Amino acid sequence: MIQRTIGQLATMIHVENDVSNYSEIEVTGVCIDTRKLKRGNLFIPFKGNNVDGHQYVEDAIKNGASAALWQKDVPNPPYHLPILVVENTEHSLQDLARSYRDQLNIKVIGVTGSNGKTTTKDMVTAVLSEKFNVQKTEGNFNNHLGLPITILSLREDTDVAVLEMGMSAKGEIDFLTKLAKPDIAIITNIGEAHLQDLGSREGIAKAKLEITNGLKKDGLFIFIGDEPLLRERVDQYKNFRIQTFGKSKVNDLYPISIEQQNNGSVYSINKAPEKELYLPVLGEYNVLNSLSAILSALELGLSMDEIELGLKALKLSSMRMEKHTGIKGTKIINDAYNASPTSMKAAIHMLETLADADDKIVVLGDMLELGDNEVEFHREVGRELKESKIKYVFTYGKLGNYIAESAKLTFPETRVFAFMDKQELVQHLKSVINGNEWILVKGSRGMKLEEVVQELEE
Ligand code: ATP
Ligand code: MG
Repeated sequence: MIQRTIGQLATMIHVENDVSNYSEIEVTGVCIDTRKLKRGNLFIPFKGNNVDGHQYVEDAIKNGASAALWQKDVPNPPYHLPILVVENTEHSLQDLARSYRDQLNIKVIGVTGSNGKTTTKDMVTAVLSEKFNVQKTEGNFNNHLGLPITILSLREDTDVAVLEMGMSAKGEIDFLTKLAKPDIAIITNIGEAHLQDLGSREGIAKAKLEITNGLKKDGLFIFIGDEPLLRERVDQYKNFRIQTFGKSKVNDLYPISIEQQNNGSVYSINKAPEKELYLPVLGEYNVLNSLSAILSALELGLSMDEIELGLKALKLSSMRMEKHTGIKGTKIINDAYNASPTSMKAAIHMLETLADADDKIVVLGDMLELGDNEVEFHREVGRELKESKIKYVFTYGKLGNYIAESAKLTFPETRVFAFMDKQELVQHLKSVINGNEWILVKGSRGMKLEEVVQELEE
């Protein structure tokens, strides 16, 4: 993580007070929440709407922070403490990260897309770790605060940083990519997420493409080539190299065979047809996610043998296609981290195509933040469910109810159950399972469907 003296920091961000008395004090890492403070940190308070972080500055320094920033419009700066007065603390955090990134001798890989960012980030990291010192975004620290904090946590001996970039509106990725200046930029897919703010899939595609605005000259742009909204703009991508991945053979990298097994996928790819790769997570779309990791690895000089080992060693972040064993030995797939129409349909498809002959059950919750067409998106998911493949449909929540409603157009009523109460859902679910089922659990973060998974575990 960043390690600089206050004197050095004053050259990296614009500081308004005289810090010469403190210039030799060393700062290690930054902290925006005193509950997570570590000795030596630079504490950065924000003037929030509810709480003003400046009230914690004295305490932070008493408890081990080396110094703190102070926003100049906040009254009574404690000049007896090592503080750096700045115009705006949030901007200074970002400026500091930008400057630190420029000082690091590191390769940066930026990952955006509607679905699969965290998954892809984990895959790229797993593969590249076979050869390099790799650091990645922790959890979902992918926004205008999370990304700078992640950058400032990078060690100087790290070779590669894999950074997730999230967005909910136009212009956000532009800001993040110009800060991170990736050597490789990845777009995982264009889904229907966040339609509320962006209007159309085209709007989403344009917003994701902003990632190329910060891509280094001669850098590599990797995207899902099956997506016409990206492919048709290819002529505009002049300043960097392009490689695409996807299912179709028009792509630079595509799978030539995929076999779904109980715990993962066995597959081969056009660039190394003789090699059998193993990915220890479920879902065909995860095979596609892995292709962008393979392209990144080839770009950075890894051999196919190294790539194979890295993929095999993959562990995903939690609640993404996580396999659990539940009561009576049922198999549960906890994909409750999040849900959008695209990822919901992909997960259902994954379940339906599992080779296993066991019975299949879906537990689906509301997909949030979909804007005006939210009801139709839920109905669409319900129509997608195949009566011949799925034994029971359970839904949770107000919008989930629309999934149930349209599922009933093809399913007998006795196999579709809509709940507004999680406990009732769990009770009923427990009463129908016999132990031979695969149960997919998925919904938006706000629905907290992992609670259903916990209840089903022994
Ligand atoms: P967030 O915007 O919440 O950060 P994310 O883009 O990081 O999401 P992940 O956390 O990797 O996405 O995955 C979320 C869910 O999206 C997964 O549980 C999975 O169901 C689905 N998913 C992952 N990759 C894809 C893909 N390529 N296409 C469709 N759905 C996917
Ligand atoms: Mg994520």
